[in-house]
Amino acid sequence: MASLILILGDQLTRTLPILENATKTQDTVLMAEVREEATYVKHHKKKIVFLFSAMRHFAKALKDDNFNVSYIKYDDEKNQGRLLEQVKHTLKQGDFDNVKVTSPGEYRLLKSMQQWEHTLGVPVTIYNDSRFLATPQEFTDWAQDRKQFRMEFFYREMRKKHGILMEDKNPVGGKWNYDSQNREPMPSGMNVPSHSQFEIDPITQDVINLVEDEFSEHFGNISPFHLAVTREEAVIVLNDFVEERLPHFGQYQDAMVEGKPWLYHSHIAFYLNCGLLSPREAIGAAESAYYAGTAPLNSVEGFIRQILGWREFVRGFYWHFMPGLKSDNYFNHNRPLPDFFWDGQTNMNCMRQCIKETQANAYAHHIQRLMVLGNFCLLTALHPDEVQQWYLLVYADAYEWVELPNVAGMILYSDGGKLASKPYVASGSYINKMSNYCKNCGYQVSKKTGPKACPFNYLYWNFIDKHKEKLSGNPRMAMMYKTYGRMKDENINAMKDSATIFLTKISKNEEV
Ligand SMILES: Cc1cc2nc3c(=O)[nH]c(=O)nc-3n(C[C@H](O)[C@H](O)[C@H](O)COP(=O)(O)OP(=O)(O)OC[C@H]3O[C@@H](n4cnc5c(N)ncnc54)[C@H](O)[C@@H]3O)c2cc1C
Ligand code: SF4
Repeated sequence: MASLILILGDQLTRTLPILENATKTQDTVLMAEVREEATYVKHHKKKIVFLFSAMRHFAKALKDDNFNVSYIKYDDEKNQGRLLEQVKHTLKQGDFDNVKVTSPGEYRLLKSMQQWEHTLGVPVTIYNDSRFLATPQEFTDWAQDRKQFRMEFFYREMRKKHGILMEDKNPVGGKWNYDSQNREPMPSGMNVPSHSQFEIDPITQDVINLVEDEFSEHFGNISPFHLAVTREEAVIVLNDFVEERLPHFGQYQDAMVEGKPWLYHSHIAFYLNCGLLSPREAIGAAESAYYAGTAPLNSVEGFIRQILGWREFVRGFYWHFMPGLKSDNYFNHNRPLPDFFWDGQTNMNCMRQCIKETQANAYAHHIQRLMVLGNFCLLTALHPDEVQQWYLLVYADAYEWVELPNVAGMILYSDGGKLASKPYVASGSYINKMSNYCKNCGYQVSKKTGPKACPFNYLYWNFIDKHKEKLSGNPRMAMMYKTYGRMKDENINAMKDSATIFLTKISKNEEV
């Protein structure tokens, strides 16, 4: 019984059951740089270099370990352009009895694979993705009969189930969450350890040449390229983080500093999401650091919550709410994405910094994605489709299962509040508190209205005013609506006038 084993670009993990149970003398592993997958959105050039290089290194490691591997490069004449066609083509070349694949991270592709058996005429088995700590079914069971889906409660269940940071039935330290000790702005002049860096080897250089030739119109810069492209390198990134940055992770998790994109974050989402690292080992490494006394509980718990809590939660949420999640538009927002999202040409320094860093690194940390870029997208009523496309293509860690719930549920509230208990909106004072962006800005964060005022200030109150019917009954918005209720009409009208001028400008793509 010879199997054709299909490994997708974000499944670069030796521990997948379809690889662990493979018969090396009979089975063939198929990996392909499929044109359709690489171009259906115009992914950041660095993301394509990273993934193709990681795939080529993974295929080489499999070959070195005596697997039969059929690797189809992007410019290979055997490249069929589409995944199904590639599988069909390979089936014709050999004597295969069946096809095995691990469940993909995208609804569209799963639905397509579920039809493959019919099209291909051989049995196609879709295996569960064993890399996650919760299955989609577990989330659905947890979500059943709940009106609200709050990550915190799901996370506690996961802590108990997997015995992570637990003492018998209680959380280590007596509390589930130590955020009251986290999330400080960064003191000025503080030295941050540099991020891990790796040499460009001949495999990566070949991919860089390919991407420069074939994807020149895509967004973003390839150079400098420092990302890990093998499991060994990704493990170094994780170890560097645990040793050098985890101790301060919690404390500076929400801080933003001009010119310092990487800060105390782990930079491992790239590797977790394509399989070079496993979430279990990242959680285990952080937990061990706590028990060894090299990192404090507030940081370790905060980091573990991101992976065991948020990451698992958004995946379950994605599968539970697809396909509706993709088309939800609770506020009926429909403004196109302004052009400056592609070049960072704006006088708003916070937006300029976050977009320029995204362009350079295919990375921005969570608070930049959420409270600067995301906050702007919601306050300016951008169409969810356009925002989703942007986030999916600009970040090297972006795949639909993780990008979409964050965009639809967390930043745009386009799911009507299934994921977040309230919209994440803030005025300029939040950005000023958590960053040093405002001091180099063309706008003044202390001004509320008029041409020099920080746009986040009037856009915020404009949003609160515009959506009072939908939001004022939300207990978590009560404070905001209380403050709004005390504002004089003339002040509210001045905010709305400033917002109208600004929104008209961005609709016309005029400079802001
Ligand atoms: C609008 C928006 C879009 C996002 N899109 C993506 C995406 O496409 N891919 C992605 O992996 N993350 C996404 N995130 C979550 C988060 O911003 C990134 O995981 C994080 O910035 C990656 O950098 P890091 O590895 O240094 O993370 P750290 O800050 O060091 O966090 C550790 C890990 O926790 C996990 N994590 C943290 N927050 C989340 C979250 N909200 N959802 C899922 N996992 C989380 C990630 O695996 C991350 O590597 C998005 C967040 C927002 C607000
Ligand atoms: S003043 Fe407003 S627009 Fe400028 S950096 Fe601060 S928050 Fe951003």
